[in-house]
Amino acid sequence: MRISGLKTHLIHCPIPEEQRVRSGAGLKLARQAALVEIETDEGISGIGPCSFGSASVDLFVVRSLVEHAISPMLKGRSAAEIETLWNDIYYGIVTRVLGHRGMGVALLSAIDIALWDIKGKVAGLPVHALLGGPTMRRAPAYGSSIYWSTPAEAAATAREFLDEGFGAVKLKIGVDVGRDLGCLAAIRDEVGPDVDIMVDANQNYSAALALRVGRELEQYNVLFFEEPIPIDDVAGHRQLAEALDTRVATGENLYTRWDFLPFITERAVDVVQPDASRCGGISEAKRIADLAAAHHAYSAPHTFSDAFTVMANLHVMAATSNTIILELDRTYNPLMTELVAEAIRPVDGFVEVPTAPGLGLTLDREFVVAHRYNGELGISAGGRPAVGTAAEVLADRAARDFRLTS
Ligand code: MG
Repeated sequence: MRISGLKTHLIHCPIPEEQRVRSGAGLKLARQAALVEIETDEGISGIGPCSFGSASVDLFVVRSLVEHAISPMLKGRSAAEIETLWNDIYYGIVTRVLGHRGMGVALLSAIDIALWDIKGKVAGLPVHALLGGPTMRRAPAYGSSIYWSTPAEAAATAREFLDEGFGAVKLKIGVDVGRDLGCLAAIRDEVGPDVDIMVDANQNYSAALALRVGRELEQYNVLFFEEPIPIDDVAGHRQLAEALDTRVATGENLYTRWDFLPFITERAVDVVQPDASRCGGISEAKRIADLAAAHHAYSAPHTFSDAFTVMANLHVMAATSNTIILELDRTYNPLMTELVAEAIRPVDGFVEVPTAPGLGLTLDREFVVAHRYNGELGISAGGRPAVGTAAEVLADRAARDFRLTS
């Protein structure tokens, strides 16, 4: 079976103003998806997503790269040879030109996932079965996320998530310590001791502040402390992981096994968070989870984009033994609910592991036509701070006091 063509589907769904959410990653303006569809000469096609849940990037770049760089490499090649094609793209384009992090690896991720979708459809098996699964019939899922708000609002949102079938919730922190811990206390009080709570700082704390917050988290029995500090600081993560009882997690902004490797081997994280649609595909997410398992660490995938991203990560989860919980977007996101025919919803805290061939999703092509990407940004540019430079969301007020803000 030969690859006969590649298509891109670029999708843009503006978020109504009253439903926009703000975290350390910025203010979300739209939900966006960049899907790559691979067609074969036998009529079977597969779809893979690049993870740009909302991005401060021009998604037309994805289409241009597919048409001018990737398509000429893949046309006429065997769709079954995923590993070889992965290496050809990675060493041919990504490492030489596009760089080890960012859009090139995300694009490689989409290609890899689309090829696994095809392989599953050809075999008549769900992707997890081709990877050695299933390891589970149902996957525990958490509601993502409770965004920056007041303690009373945060507690009310947590209650809504539980009422909708979630058994665990995540809180966005990183705004300021008093508010962060106030919201956490209110949520724990609301949901009781048996519901898992995660917190996510989106890299917004300095190392000293993360340590202070981390010590406070211990009294609330938090499942993991996500992206406490900037992802380039491996040593800082190791110090946190050593100092805290609460598990330290990171990975949604790490790309490929080589990005994760020092975090895993130096025991700088307790929980890795690869996203199959960003880290290098289903192939790479499985390798990363397995690397973590070899060092007795857990995995909990990031999936905050679209239904294809969730499903790609769910197949990896269902083929590993150290993946503890699945992220499910509970903010305004038609890419979770209207982009595909199948519903991905929690019941009693779990989602069903898919049994249909391939990824098990059917793209709603009318939805795609009705929500074509128009060149607008999905997230306010500059929303993510570098410590010491962004007055808007930097949590460490002590550090902000002496910084130039004009
Ligand atoms: Mg996160």
